[in-house]
Amino acid sequence: MTRLTPLLERNEQFAGTYTPVPLGPPSAQVIVVTCLDHRVDPAITLGLQLGEAPVIRNAGGRVTQAVIDDLAYLAFLAGQLFAGQLDDRLFEVAVIHHTQCGTGFLADPSFRHQAAEATGLPEATLEAAAVADPHTTVKVDVERLLTSPLLSPKVSVSGHVYDIDTGRVTTVLDARHP
Ligand SMILES: [Zn+2]
Repeated sequence: MTRLTPLLERNEQFAGTYTPVPLGPPSAQVIVVTCLDHRVDPAITLGLQLGEAPVIRNAGGRVTQAVIDDLAYLAFLAGQLFAGQLDDRLFEVAVIHHTQCGTGFLADPSFRHQAAEATGLPEATLEAAAVADPHTTVKVDVERLLTSPLLSPKVSVSGHVYDIDTGRVTTVLDARHP
């Protein structure tokens, strides 16, 4: 018995009508970078279907070095596998931050200090992870991605904010190439 058991029953239903999706370029031509928060799942909020868009999630949906590394590899992989099937523009990376993010507490110095002691993570790392104002941090992260030497010139980047209260995603920065 595992707590996954009731969810495995849902999986059984899913598998009952499932059709495998062949490996191909993401059909939405988008890669989503967003928070791991269980209230902001892009499969639900954006209605993503299988095969439409890779999703990279971490605390806050921040553009960390690990995210940049994953995107660099995905761009390489897409170029290798789908050369004839793609135009010059590989895909758009949509960075989506959200209101009421749990990382927002890290903007408070005493909370951050406690978090650093408990986790062993440097306070500077925790401070850099904080999303207190998603409109501000999403701009910072789009800029970070656009200025990264690892970002493929064939990739564009856009910035958005998801509002927990309304369920609405608002575009803050339209897609731009490096
Ligand atoms: Zn969050």
